[in-house]
Amino acid sequence: MRPPANALVQGQASSARLSISGMQDPPISPRAHQLHFRSIVFDAHADTTQRLFWERFDLGTRSSVGQVDLPRMREGGLGAIFFSLWSPGTLKGGPAVQRALDLIDAVRQQVELHPQDLALVTKAADVPRARAKGKIAILMGLEGGHMIADDLGVLRMYAALGVRYMTLTHTVHTTWADASTEPPIHNGLTPFGRSVVKEMNRLGMLVDVSHVSDKTFWDALEGSKAPLFASHSCCRALCDAPRNLSDDMIRALAAGGGVVGINFHVGFLSQAYCDAVRKIAPELEEANQRAHQACGDDLQCQVWAEARVSQEFTRAGKLPEVRWEQIVDHIDHAVGLVGADHVALGSDMDGSTMPIGMEDVTALPRITAALLERGYSAADIRKILGRNTLRLLAQAEQVAKEMQTLEER
Ligand SMILES: [Zn+2]
Repeated sequence: MRPPANALVQGQASSARLSISGMQDPPISPRAHQLHFRSIVFDAHADTTQRLFWERFDLGTRSSVGQVDLPRMREGGLGAIFFSLWSPGTLKGGPAVQRALDLIDAVRQQVELHPQDLALVTKAADVPRARAKGKIAILMGLEGGHMIADDLGVLRMYAALGVRYMTLTHTVHTTWADASTEPPIHNGLTPFGRSVVKEMNRLGMLVDVSHVSDKTFWDALEGSKAPLFASHSCCRALCDAPRNLSDDMIRALAAGGGVVGINFHVGFLSQAYCDAVRKIAPELEEANQRAHQACGDDLQCQVWAEARVSQEFTRAGKLPEVRWEQIVDHIDHAVGLVGADHVALGSDMDGSTMPIGMEDVTALPRITAALLERGYSAADIRKILGRNTLRLLAQAEQVAKEMQTLEER
């Protein structure tokens, strides 16, 4: 899910696209098409769940807005996806728990509604099994540690309901971990925060460091027995946003076996976009607040409203255009640092502003084609498209098994 004051561009599906500036993208080669559609393409982070909850959106319907639905997932060759269970970090205690349960319910209802197409998956090995049956694997990730309401019992219940990762924070601090987008108050993880990480390891839940402060990242790295996940973050060397990872962080994450899922949000991809947002922040914030007024409490309505604002600002030349190739630049940078075993996809679709040419999930084969053009081997591309995220899940399951075996002795 996006940080406030960013937005989402409404999706349009077509195989060859014209960007706002009129540049046409080349078609996908047969080789790229075959590689893409024979791989397990795994998106580690999408905010579609918010649509399911707020709009009662049926995934089976091809939508003219947003980026993800069943017909478009098929068209884009997407085989597995983590649906994010998000609530604002300002929602605390019981209401935050209720929201998380409502979102879990919304995902589970969609899987029930589309049993031929979707499979709710909680184990790494079940992803290829679902794919073998022609189904799309649906996984759930909790976005924001505030939703455990400071209670490890609630965390355990989420795990029992099938939640497979948790970002330790969203954009604001929890009572036990600092976020990246506020001045720090805890100096990373508190002792309770460390016990949350340990319990996640024991449950086989991936410790997700997207959104956390640098110090929380280092504390989680030190405390976690399983490799870390940054499900939807980019490279700070290419775009200096606090949500992105420095080269040192990417190296350390990878040295511990971890994986970074590259985010597609324009504000994390492009330094020019980030700089422009900073320059016009008050004007943009005011426009967003104005656009929110018609939405009331409906958070998905606010996402769409911000999308319109972002489009208006881009058309007016106040925000720069960002193109999809910059996603590949971030993949390339991270692979250059740590190799192809530690990089994945974490699009942030349906909650962020997508770059030109990646208007929705149908454009995913472009990434495969671009990696081939840049000289990546088919084996490395398969890792980036999905195998790394699968491996990480399996590693977390193994750590959980070992910890539980030790307890039984
Ligand atoms: Zn997020």
